[in-house]
Amino acid sequence: MSERWLKGIGVSAGMAVGPAVVVRWALPEVPHRVVPRSQVEKEVRRLRAAVRDVKRHVQELQAKAEDRAGVDEARIFDFQILMLEDKEFLSSVEDLIRENHLTAEKAFEFKALEVRDTWTATGSPQLKDRLTDFAGVAIRVIEHLMHRGADEVWEGITQPSVVVAKEVGPGLTVQLDREHVVGLISEEGTRTSHAAILAHSLGIPAVFGVAGAMERIEPGTMLVMDGTRGTVLLHPTPQEIAEAKTRELGRRALAEQLEAVVDQPAVTVDGVRIVLRGNVDLPDELAAARNHRAEGVGLLRTEFLIMGHSALPSEDDQTEYFRRVGQAFPGHPVVIRTYDLGGDKLPAPFRTQPEPNPQLGWRAIRVCLDRPEIFRTQVRAALRAAAHADIWLMIPLVTRLDEVDRTRAIVSEEAAKLTREGITAAASVPVGVMVETPAAAVLADRLAEISDFLSVGTNDLTQYTLAVDRGNARLADRFHPHDPSVLRLLKMVADAARAAGKPASVCGEMASEPLSAFLLIGLGYETLSVAPPALPLVKWTVRQVSAARARAAAEQALQARTADEVLDLLRLALAEAVDLKLLDPDARLPAGRRAASLKV
Ligand code: PEP
Ligand code: MG
Repeated sequence: MSERWLKGIGVSAGMAVGPAVVVRWALPEVPHRVVPRSQVEKEVRRLRAAVRDVKRHVQELQAKAEDRAGVDEARIFDFQILMLEDKEFLSSVEDLIRENHLTAEKAFEFKALEVRDTWTATGSPQLKDRLTDFAGVAIRVIEHLMHRGADEVWEGITQPSVVVAKEVGPGLTVQLDREHVVGLISEEGTRTSHAAILAHSLGIPAVFGVAGAMERIEPGTMLVMDGTRGTVLLHPTPQEIAEAKTRELGRRALAEQLEAVVDQPAVTVDGVRIVLRGNVDLPDELAAARNHRAEGVGLLRTEFLIMGHSALPSEDDQTEYFRRVGQAFPGHPVVIRTYDLGGDKLPAPFRTQPEPNPQLGWRAIRVCLDRPEIFRTQVRAALRAAAHADIWLMIPLVTRLDEVDRTRAIVSEEAAKLTREGITAAASVPVGVMVETPAAAVLADRLAEISDFLSVGTNDLTQYTLAVDRGNARLADRFHPHDPSVLRLLKMVADAARAAGKPASVCGEMASEPLSAFLLIGLGYETLSVAPPALPLVKWTVRQVSAARARAAAEQALQARTADEVLDLLRLALAEAVDLKLLDPDARLPAGRRAASLKV
């Protein structure tokens, strides 16, 4: 990319064109000041009043969020309110005022920085979100104590502008007025950060994770921002602005079509019913999965329950979470993936010697079987939740048959124990294998015999088949789930499951993308579990294609020599049914082989 381009993660779709308003929103400089002993209690009272006022303000923001974005989104503010009610934290600030005679703002800043450092040290992505929420509250309280308004940064925006910030919290996002703020760029933040969820609900295009944005973008710089692709263009030419506007029109046309399919069934034109489930990593994603009519959860990741915490989650807490998710999808299954810990994801209670090859190390089911105390707790929670919902259990990184046998034995033993203990629980749950190693794919026929379902994790299956570390940016252009070797394994698994009469699905990222979803249907998968935001697009694609054509394309793909060849022939086949320009305005069909019926 040239010097005029910046790259981040598109977290809320849409194009925005406008001058940059650079916002510096951070903890203010708090002067170090001590007060006479006689004024200490006055400082404590000032602190309490400020916390009370800020709480009222956050409650107002919550009401605004409920109005503008919805009830689920408004719950994002629950955490900020809880923090303002946290007696332990507030009394620690009061103690500091009393012991050191500090001003309320200095004591609050001191304790807030302490919390920030502790949370940062955990490295947990979920706590990172909480940290942004916490910073939002801390800035408000301190600004209030210093008699400054935390929202003043938004004043002075008089024309449609793109806001650029180091970090954006949900409190500021919900106040954005679309007439004035047409786009949001932030150096920090991820797709699942609270500000991203709100920006998405409010329909404000946003690109987060743009490294160097604050340094590179001067106030007033004209910008074209693409919240779908995650790009920012500085100083665009009139032609680039015109192209951006055309692209936005295309996006809106697609968005309208997507909206229309939300309540329609996912059926191909030749009548094959495809089941579309959602992948849920964090509880925040449940709302999107439900709103997009996911038919259950095909991959409920559970690592967040443990990462960033100093203690293991209790059986009751897990039961409550699994039951809540299960009951959010009545009539549909929720597939709990047992802890996929290890590799680079070893939480504090598990610290062991660093491993030379963590991706080939003590991971996933290996950790669970070696540490039955955590595994059994999770199994018991699943069994208990299964008394109230359709809960399935799925084991990650299987490479051997005995891993399934041992898991099944643990499930039976715990079910019997729960009965003996008189605790309400299901007598059993379906146990499935996550096929994400070549070993599991090659053994798929045997695994299908001893399990209740198979689900392919193509992220890891690609990594282990091609021996390409999925997190290594240097190898990114070698990481191809469409490689013919991976396709052969996918086909073997689908065939093995069908022969054994067991359901098979795909829950890796590739299922979330139209071209690959078409391929997977052709390879014989009738259940896909996809990232919740991608559900409408995948359903829209399913409803335009024929399964017979997908099968023919998949046959051809299996004969291809390279991943690029696979992609080319898939594009050609899909273009017979779908206007590819709608999916990607830059889509190009392979030269000289344009399909006659291509609509563009
Ligand atoms: C996969 O490997 O494809 C998968 C879905 O699991 P994760 O991305 O959590 O490893
Ligand atoms: Mg995996």
